[in-house]
Amino acid sequence: MHEWALAEGVIKTIKEYSKDKKIEKVVVKIGELQQIDIDIFKFALDELKKENSMNKLSIILEIEPAVLKCRVCGKTWSFSENLKELDDFIAESIHFVPEVFHAFIKCPNCGSPDIDILKGRGVWIEKIKFKGE
Ligand SMILES: [Zn+2]
Repeated sequence: MHEWALAEGVIKTIKEYSKDKKIEKVVVKIGELQQIDIDIFKFALDELKKENSMNKLSIILEIEPAVLKCRVCGKTWSFSENLKELDDFIAESIHFVPEVFHAFIKCPNCGSPDIDILKGRGVWIEKIKFKGE
């Protein structure tokens, strides 16, 4: 369960940033292809907020859409375009196990399976809003 480790990382970073300033809101981005259970992640953040007396802090989770690039022809496109063409079962599997995505996703331009993920992986803090800002 790496959701707890990720949540701890987020809370730790927020604490380092806050020091003597009061933080009102934090936006956390989650890549569309990141293998994470959002419900567990949210729960972990809530629990850690309580432990660290950050009850009033609002943490907003946003999903970053994945962007892919073909290594053969250089075309870039969004992952959601691929999902429309897949059946629901496969689309679900990819969200659950992003590693299988290379087996199903092909370049819409030249059909190559040799694809880079430009965006859509990882979890990071996008924005920290301090009180009075
Ligand atoms: Zn291509």
